[in-house]
Amino acid sequence: MNKSHIHDLALFGGQKMFPRPVSTSNLVKPDVEQFLSLLKPALNANGESALIKQLETELAEFHQVPHCVAVCSGFWALVLAIKALAMPGKTEVIMPSLTYRRLADVVAWTGLIPRFCEVDPATLAISAATAAPHIGPDTALIIGVHPIVNCCDAPGLEQLGEKHGIPVLFDGVESVYETLNGKKIGGFGAAECFSFHASKLINGFEGGYITTRDAALARTLRTLSDPSACEGEPRLSAALPGGPLEPPPAPSIETRLPAVHAAMALQGLREVHGQISHNREIYHTYKARLAAVRGLELLQFNEGEQTSFKNIVVGLNSDWLLSRELTIEVLNSEGILTRAYYSPPLHLRPVKYPTIQSPLPFTEQAAKRYMLMPSGYQVNVQQVEQVIDFLNWISAHAAEIRNTAGERP
Ligand SMILES: *Cc1c(COP(=O)(O)O)cnc(C)c1O
Repeated sequence: MNKSHIHDLALFGGQKMFPRPVSTSNLVKPDVEQFLSLLKPALNANGESALIKQLETELAEFHQVPHCVAVCSGFWALVLAIKALAMPGKTEVIMPSLTYRRLADVVAWTGLIPRFCEVDPATLAISAATAAPHIGPDTALIIGVHPIVNCCDAPGLEQLGEKHGIPVLFDGVESVYETLNGKKIGGFGAAECFSFHASKLINGFEGGYITTRDAALARTLRTLSDPSACEGEPRLSAALPGGPLEPPPAPSIETRLPAVHAAMALQGLREVHGQISHNREIYHTYKARLAAVRGLELLQFNEGEQTSFKNIVVGLNSDWLLSRELTIEVLNSEGILTRAYYSPPLHLRPVKYPTIQSPLPFTEQAAKRYMLMPSGYQVNVQQVEQVIDFLNWISAHAAEIRNTAGERP
């Protein structure tokens, strides 16, 4: 490490540790020749639909579900699934606040109202116990979101939904590879949504998909996703509960997955196991070495399940003397692109659409506590070791750094 004095910190004018940044984004690059050979036939007439069908078939197999519908992004996968599942005439969608930054936008886009609930301290995720107090006569849907490390209690949420006759949709983006009680994520609830964004485990540049065990729902989703495929039939999107914020212009939004994304995602899916061994090595490096860094706690993956080890989440406890914000500033300035974990929480973000709020003290506390550390395809073990040595150094020089940066204890 090239730091001996605190003025060697990039934040105070010293040299950056990583001129080429180490990020928390996956940015996996699959075998380019294989990707191109999948893409080529899709450029012919009918080739595109054959490729998408192949991708959907392999994804359904991967998630051990009978149906998969590919769409253009995780965002639109969620929009379509909410439209298809929300109970007619009801207005509220129960969802966590400590989650993906655009999840409330997704709900608002469908014309429904996000109603924020707490997360369970053990999982950092929505649970039956945190969702239940929000159920009422206006509840249209519950969205269970799997957290970044491990899974939410999906069976508990399924039971809650059954008890009240409310559909449960899962956002499985962060748990794409994982199992819960040995059962593959993808088969829980009425449906689960996933993303192929370049930052995720499977990189399609962009893209997304929905898995379900329900054949009728899969048909509805296909109709919603590609109105041209059902010309002459009544427009489902206009007839659905909630409806879009404004009457949809004709034709409505195109949410099909383009061939180039499908080819990239399919190759990524076929190579996914290689990524997991890389991620496991990164995770075990953090696990072994972070234990010696005072003030930091690694969120541990449940290795009794199949897990992706994809993102590294670290909590700051009272022995860590810098604020999380200053810590992130110090790290970012060195090219270590650490990010705050789901912060600010959604109920504290100013938005122009209606939401339903109640005090969420645990969420607000948790939103200040965690950060995502560099990981993924572009990061190697040696870099992780350098990052952890640097965290140790920061810990030892915390008081000086704080004073120089003008931060109060
Ligand atoms: C990234 C993400 C999404 C959205 O996926 P996009 O393909 O980027 O639209 C949804 N939910 C979660 C939890 C995510 O992390």
